[in-house]
Amino acid sequence: MASTSGLQNLNNDHRSERFLFLLIVFITALTLIGILGLSYFVASIGINNLPLYAQWLLTAVLIITGGSVLLVLGALATVIMAGRDLPVPYVKKLRSIAVKYFLPVFIAVGKILGISKEEVQHAFVAVNNQLVMSYCKDGHPPERILLLMPHCLQNSECPVKITYRVQNCKRCGKCVIKDLLELSEKYNSNLSVATGGTIARRIVIETKPDLIIAVACERDLTSGIQDTAPLPVYGIFNRRPHGPCFNTQVDLEAIEEVLKEFRTK
Ligand code: SF4
Repeated sequence: MASTSGLQNLNNDHRSERFLFLLIVFITALTLIGILGLSYFVASIGINNLPLYAQWLLTAVLIITGGSVLLVLGALATVIMAGRDLPVPYVKKLRSIAVKYFLPVFIAVGKILGISKEEVQHAFVAVNNQLVMSYCKDGHPPERILLLMPHCLQNSECPVKITYRVQNCKRCGKCVIKDLLELSEKYNSNLSVATGGTIARRIVIETKPDLIIAVACERDLTSGIQDTAPLPVYGIFNRRPHGPCFNTQVDLEAIEEVLKEFRTK
């Protein structure tokens, strides 16, 4: 099927990013466990001088923290390797916790390894997209799809206000909003344009989508995916040939490949 092979190509393109992210997850887990082990070793030098309850408390805190880190990062590593959420209780929840709270740690570990913040964010989104697609194909086909776009896609000289009603667009073709409207109609999806995270959150609450296809820069896309977890968000980075937040562009084919997965069967 054309749509499947198109998306398959996209997924294959991102294989190395997913491997990179898995590597960062492993190194993060080893680093955190190493720090905890070292903390215990340092504390244990003088632990006999502490009251018994304090010794137990310290040991319990370190064991619980270490166990939680292993559980959360282990769940994330497992679903990355499997390419899907496993039918095991709480795996999805643990994976969501890892996505919500550990990304800054992954970025810090990446920095130590000489991997840029943007590379880690791209790897994170590649992993997220694979999990979102497998979730949707695995018995959760999305009925309501929301195309959530950033305001900077609109031509900067366009006088039309499209933030609250994208249908106000006159379809002059000077920016991709016209093409996105056509895509949303062709694939029976909602299209919304947001100027920031607050409005994006409000749009999500109002439209109650089963799947969001979101376009944004690295920072907004990763924070949006974290904020909305476990709601599935397929992320696509915008292109910025004129600099940040100004007449940005997007790969329309990439958006259409995702839409085809759920609207042509
Ligand atoms: S396509 Fe729509 S949003 Fe873009 S410049 Fe033309 S009228 Fe404005």
